[in-house]
Amino acid sequence: MPAKLSFSSEIVNLLYNAETNPVQSCIQCGTCSSTCPAADFMDHSPRNIIALIRADLRKPVLSSNAFWCCASCYQCTVRCPAGIDIAGMMYGLKRYSMWRNRFKKGSIGADFSRRFARMILKNGKSFEPALATPYLFHYGLRTFFYDARNALALFMKGRLPLFPKRLKRSAKFRGILSRIIPMGRAA
Ligand code: SF4
Ligand code: SF4
Repeated sequence: MPAKLSFSSEIVNLLYNAETNPVQSCIQCGTCSSTCPAADFMDHSPRNIIALIRADLRKPVLSSNAFWCCASCYQCTVRCPAGIDIAGMMYGLKRYSMWRNRFKKGSIGADFSRRFARMILKNGKSFEPALATPYLFHYGLRTFFYDARNALALFMKGRLPLFPKRLKRSAKFRGILSRIIPMGRAA
């Protein structure tokens, strides 16, 4: 019977370009957290997330909003003195959390990603009006009117379709996607 992987090893395995164990080479210098433009919105900074992974603390990591707030700007990755791809790790945590179906309840990031994955599995293409509809009033009326104005401008320029389009041979496409974890299990 194969040995059960620790949480930390599972996350390292999701870092496709990783050699050895990059998480263990973190020196906790905090450069990633201080350079991160989204850190103020995170309940755990990138440095903290790495420390929690190293300590194998699955629950606080998966219930964190940190990786859902990550803007994928890669500032942390290019500045890390230990060469750790922190942005890649944030992507890995998103995949892992969806794959395991473990994320903070009410998290818009997780909910949105799930809806997006389901839509791609079904149609092979994104359809923005359907994706945005559940969140229209989430940030209040002011944001709703702001978004509505942007949507109208996009529509007038022909950049916002009224009806969804389907990829030809979508069943074949679904077969390819179903081999990818976690997207293949999102439906
Ligand atoms: S910048 Fe790199 S070495 Fe420093 S705390 Fe962040 S991950 Fe660790
Ligand atoms: S890639 Fe994500 S974690 Fe890294 S600095 Fe940008 S927003 Fe922060």
